[in-house]
Amino acid sequence: MENNNISILGAGLIGSLLGIFLRKRGLDVSIFEKREDRRHQLYKEEGRSINMALSDRGWKALEKVGLKDKIKDLAIPMYGRRIHDEHGNTTFQQYGKDGEAIYSISRGKFNQILVDEAEKVGVQLNFEHKCEDVNIYKKQIKFSLPKWEAKKHQANVIIGADGAYSALRSSMQKQERFDFSQHYISHGYKELSIPPTAEGEFAMDPNALHIWPRGKFMLIALPNPDKSFTCTLFLPFEGTKVCFDKIHDKKDVESVFKTYFNDAYNMMPTLGEDFFKNPTSALITINCYPWVKNQCLLIGDASHAMVPFYGQGMNCGFEDCYVLDGLIEKYGTTSWELIFEKFQKMRKPDTDAISQLALENFIEMRDAVSDPKFLIRKKIEARLHELYPKEWIPLYTMVTFSDIPYSEAYAQGKIQDRIMNKVMADPLITQNWDKLDYEDIIDQVETARMV
Ligand SMILES: Cc1cc2nc3c(=O)[nH]c(=O)nc-3n(C[C@H](O)[C@H](O)[C@H](O)COP(=O)(O)OP(=O)(O)OC[C@H]3O[C@@H](n4cnc5c(N)ncnc54)[C@H](O)[C@@H]3O)c2cc1C
Repeated sequence: MENNNISILGAGLIGSLLGIFLRKRGLDVSIFEKREDRRHQLYKEEGRSINMALSDRGWKALEKVGLKDKIKDLAIPMYGRRIHDEHGNTTFQQYGKDGEAIYSISRGKFNQILVDEAEKVGVQLNFEHKCEDVNIYKKQIKFSLPKWEAKKHQANVIIGADGAYSALRSSMQKQERFDFSQHYISHGYKELSIPPTAEGEFAMDPNALHIWPRGKFMLIALPNPDKSFTCTLFLPFEGTKVCFDKIHDKKDVESVFKTYFNDAYNMMPTLGEDFFKNPTSALITINCYPWVKNQCLLIGDASHAMVPFYGQGMNCGFEDCYVLDGLIEKYGTTSWELIFEKFQKMRKPDTDAISQLALENFIEMRDAVSDPKFLIRKKIEARLHELYPKEWIPLYTMVTFSDIPYSEAYAQGKIQDRIMNKVMADPLITQNWDKLDYEDIIDQVETARMV
């Protein structure tokens, strides 16, 4: 049946997982990917090994397609943040309750498994097919192939999972009443690396996400199964004392790292080379609507790219797949208009909320986490959650360890934030936090919710 024929653009994390979901619903699925098939080469992305944090929403989607156990074998649990101060001292801040963790996983290996699985369940894969344009009304896709070949493909249903610079979205932008905005933050990022020790061991605690918060900039590191760490340096591009524009040679790199990240510097023997070999990349937020036009749908980063500071871009895209699959389960595939319309209405408030939270969390990560008052605040919130598990759920827990809609988490988080600001305004809070009237705080939450 015509309606059962789906063309997905992009075999990234979201496109390949969506392919699996749709194929498992008995649909004919073809994925078109601009890159060549690199699954069987040693995994490296432009010379870098990049890893990501996978959390509950991502796991939920993987579980639904039966991939949770396979992926878990490759993932390293990180139970909290390990904060490195400028003198090399570290403190550990647990993310959630005992046993709750986010998981570090190699993006390339993960993508490879998803594409392999898509192929296994019968998705047709077309590599080296770069979408140049989509005629939304005719549902015709123009591809460029290697050697300047071109190809037209007549589709029935088109889903753009082709990332932040989506070609489907560009074609939709030519339509009337398509809202679009993009915003680059002033910071960029660069991937670096901490290799295993001479004894072949992890150079730091592998079960933590390491952060070197330095106010306007920061370094983070996530563990890899080969006992190395992938580090990401976030710096302003220009205009501040420490910024990418002012780092010209290895001596400059050394000077910045020795001054601000000395303990990390001592574990990075190839820092100078890596810094100039690896690209400096920008960080973008994309906002657009509608996501649907004539049976063409945007999903994942194509519809809502966000900055990476909540570690939710991929998790949110996986949740997109989960929600879309739930709608197909409920309504069948006879009316894609109905399903896509419901999908965008449901998801847009949630993806707006997590995009905003991701921007806000940058300040928390690069600055607040090193403030002793921040630790007290977290302790109070943890106590409230322990005493009143339903009435008070810390924002990080709602986003990372639950599937509470992001928009609800956002609204609830703002109420809690206001109340915590009042609690923290007490000049003696550092001494008194243990003796607070926790019941009264919960009463305040209940009252605020009713207003
Ligand atoms: C530094 C950094 C760290 C991050 N860390 C995390 C994290 O820890 N946790 C988390 O959840 N998220 C994280 N993210 C976000 C995450 O990377 C994205 O949300 C996720 O990759 C989105 O997947 P996607 O499939 O929608 O897009 P992409 O991963 O961009 O994949 C798009 C695919 O489409 C293909 N494509 C593009 N254009 C075309 C075209 N014209 N024709 C055909 N194919 C095309 C591309 O080659 C690619 O394969 C991070 C992002 C960054 C930048």
